[in-house]
Amino acid sequence: MRYLSTRGGQSATGAEAIVRGLARDGGLFVPESFPAVGADELALMANEPYAARAARILGRYLTDFTQEQLAGMVDSAYARFDERGVAPLKALEGGVRVIELYHGPTLAFKDVALTLLPHLLTASARATGEAREVLILVATSGDTGKAALSGFQDVPGTRCAVFYPEGGVSEAQRLQMVTQRGDNTRVIAVKGNFDDAQTGVKRIFSDPRAAAAFDAKGLALSSANSINWGRLAPQIVYYFSAYCDMLAAGDAAPGDKINICVPTGNFGNILAAYYAMRMGLPVHKLICASNSNNVLTDFIRTGRYDARRAFHLTTSPSMDILVSSNLERMLFELCGRDAAAVRGWMDGLRENGCYEIGENAKAALDALMYGAWASEAECAAEIARAWREESYLVDPHTAVAMKALRDYRAETGDTRPCTVASTASPFKFGRAVSAALGLPTDADDFALCDRLAEKTGWAVPKAIAELPRLPVRHRAVCAPEDMLFTLMKEIDRP
Ligand SMILES: *Cc1c(COP(=O)(O)O)cnc(C)c1O
Repeated sequence: MRYLSTRGGQSATGAEAIVRGLARDGGLFVPESFPAVGADELALMANEPYAARAARILGRYLTDFTQEQLAGMVDSAYARFDERGVAPLKALEGGVRVIELYHGPTLAFKDVALTLLPHLLTASARATGEAREVLILVATSGDTGKAALSGFQDVPGTRCAVFYPEGGVSEAQRLQMVTQRGDNTRVIAVKGNFDDAQTGVKRIFSDPRAAAAFDAKGLALSSANSINWGRLAPQIVYYFSAYCDMLAAGDAAPGDKINICVPTGNFGNILAAYYAMRMGLPVHKLICASNSNNVLTDFIRTGRYDARRAFHLTTSPSMDILVSSNLERMLFELCGRDAAAVRGWMDGLRENGCYEIGENAKAALDALMYGAWASEAECAAEIARAWREESYLVDPHTAVAMKALRDYRAETGDTRPCTVASTASPFKFGRAVSAALGLPTDADDFALCDRLAEKTGWAVPKAIAELPRLPVRHRAVCAPEDMLFTLMKEIDRP
């Protein structure tokens, strides 16, 4: 399998795509074709455990590796999830099936890809002849940083350094990062906001003196952000897995089409659902859910993407995003893989903050997707409703998706079974969930989680409960202009 750039430049192998992250022409890597998974194979997979399903799907895309290699990587990655597994299904009323993707080490769905990426990346580096250690740089607004640190912790041949905005993440998220174990991890607070941290990381990547300095230390720079093919491919698996579980449980008959609803930020998770559909998973509609940063809802309804709008801070912060990078891969398919059209739209976005797709692409989009969004009040009301009516606790991101599904069903009357991606543990957002349930919020996040557990009978996950007791291992703080200097100093620290 080879990988094309959405902007028409040189193709690459899977290993090259994973090591490079971004194509040289600035485009994103997409598979040259979508391998087919037929009804017979789906029936076979229904009897397999998650790890076998994962090795099977990944094997179609990552042809640089043997099936044994992939199975080994998958096994070590997913041994880190709790006893419920990677993607258990929870049945709710009305044919709603929630895929709980948050039972990994950092309690968000990003663990599904970021526990596997270190294995894929080190194997890819070897396959492409990279002899140096790989240094992963991450700028984070919260969830990605911790998931990357946790994934790369103690993985031989790798180091991982994360920059986060000082004061710009929740107390739980900060503690999750600064208590990170592993001699190969570093965490640095930046005196600035997320954009400052992200700009600083990009500057390090494009600074030739930095590259030379790291090379002298035997280090090659790489990134773990969500446009990397190594993060996208593992996400395709759980949509297949959910359908197989429904087949196994008799919730769907072979060939029955389902809908899929995904709380969306950078468009990686829902794109994976689209790729699963292209591979033959029986899907009728993809429902793209947004919070009040509803640029995608408007785009899906009008065909016009316009990022020139106010940015809202919400209780679902991982969806607070106005430029969804992975949408470029979807555009590439919508226009029949016309790289020149994609380049034009991306130029429009960069120069004017907006673009409009043509009639044909819009018609293709209409056939596939439905967009809806939830306000802060609607999100809180949905958290309360799910608890009141179904005794089910959801985090704000998942609640946004459940509200969007409700809107879709009301507008279209299409009530076929729908899987909803649940992307974070409700205890990761204990304050917002407590407030939505009408509980008092006059305490720190940990006390609120304890009270929430008491009230609901759900257990606080260990990864949250243990945080206040863990020793702080990372204390570096720097100004945005000192990020490279501070990183070099931290790298040399024993
Ligand atoms: C990252 C994230 C999302 C958004 O996923 P995308 O792939 O960026 O669309 C949704 N919910 C949670 C909890 C996340 O961490």
